[in-house]
Amino acid sequence: MRPNSLHAADLAHMVHQQTDLGAHAADGAVLIARGEGVHVWDTEGKEYIEAMAGLWCASLGFSEKRLAEAAYRQLLTLPYYHTFFQKGHEPSVRLAEKLTAIAPPGLNHAMFQCGGSEANDAAIKLAWYYHNVTGRPQKKKIIGRIRGYHGNTVATASLSGQPHMQADFDLPLGDRFLHISNPNYYRAGLPGETEEQFSERMAAELQALIDREGADTIAAFFAEPVQGGGGAITPPRGYFEAIVPILKQAGILFVADEVICGFGRTGHYWGCETYGIQPDMLSCAKQLTAAYQPLSALLISDAIHAALLEGSKRNGSFGHGYTYGGHPVACAVALETLAIYEERDMVGHVQAVSPAFLDGLGALRDHPLVGDVRGVGLIAGVELMADKAKKEPFPAGAKVGLLVQEKCHAAGLIVRAIGDRIAFTPPLIITAAQIGEMCRRFRAGLDAAWAELQE
Ligand code: PLP
Repeated sequence: MRPNSLHAADLAHMVHQQTDLGAHAADGAVLIARGEGVHVWDTEGKEYIEAMAGLWCASLGFSEKRLAEAAYRQLLTLPYYHTFFQKGHEPSVRLAEKLTAIAPPGLNHAMFQCGGSEANDAAIKLAWYYHNVTGRPQKKKIIGRIRGYHGNTVATASLSGQPHMQADFDLPLGDRFLHISNPNYYRAGLPGETEEQFSERMAAELQALIDREGADTIAAFFAEPVQGGGGAITPPRGYFEAIVPILKQAGILFVADEVICGFGRTGHYWGCETYGIQPDMLSCAKQLTAAYQPLSALLISDAIHAALLEGSKRNGSFGHGYTYGGHPVACAVALETLAIYEERDMVGHVQAVSPAFLDGLGALRDHPLVGDVRGVGLIAGVELMADKAKKEPFPAGAKVGLLVQEKCHAAGLIVRAIGDRIAFTPPLIITAAQIGEMCRRFRAGLDAAWAELQE
């Protein structure tokens, strides 16, 4: 590495997020320099298909000029204003109007933040607030799922079921956060158990937890329609159908975390639509702006909004807000993003290319490393197994997922290893031909990893 190079400066001064800094110090980072469509190039000139859309977010790829122009126009008109103290601005109002028009029925109000963690953090506070105002202040516990991912704040990391994000900080915080099992049917289904029976077992576990803790102590249940950071895990058949009535019966709010699923990823506008869920709150971010600006929204029901009004009458303003929540430039970019989704019928496009995506990855089941492929729309997870006939996983610590990820990178494909599951969420604009090339590069990555494992 040359002294004074970009890579040297990176190693000396830049602290990368969610990075094994020990390994990083040895290898350095791949620095991405530019993008076009579904492709990105690093500073060495190497080209990649970005099969994760960055962090599950760059839905319109990496060169959508209309979004840059929308940002520029708004920067020239009103580069900043807030929405505190009875003030506001047109882009946030128009976006709230638009989002609530396309939201699942009954979610008629929007609060804005900068990212998914903040949206979910707001949802946790609002769940507590709602139960306080409606006379059930003892409802404080929040249920998440093992391997669920809802963010990085102290509360959302506590709610997430990701031990590596909790252990260093002694999270979960206090006794307010509970977790039920991860609904990965392929890995956790019992021999002979159908998907529906597995879902019933998951629901029975939820019921037992509620019975143990007491329904009157539980405020809300959070779930991603398709679990992203847990490994791109689609719910087994009958899962939400079994879970939702239990929550309703116990007066527990359902918060749908659509930070990854929202805006067409699952082949419908919302993951809730794909799985027939009617949530009390819905958090969304990422594809809301196609990732061109940081922005998230929490959409809330009329009942929760009524509690906000009632609470304000009693105690004054709802004590929550961010300097940059609903930033006008981010809102202008979101409005343009949503206009593009509509004009180009992005949901229709996802439905049209989804079979090529799922069948193309599915064809890799013939590979000795691939145990299973599951997905919906343009999100999928590929299970890597040591012995797929015996359904035997690799030993903990073998890091085969990381090996495959590394070999895919070498083959010009950016994917994400989550343990021994490889996640795919390409930009929504990907074409069938590009999906074909993505699958070819994936096979090359798998072959290279397989060859190394045989040495
Ligand atoms: N919720 C889900 C489902 C996510 O996947 C993520 C991030 O990947 C978050 C919340 C947190 O969003 P952010 O990183 O924007 O805070």
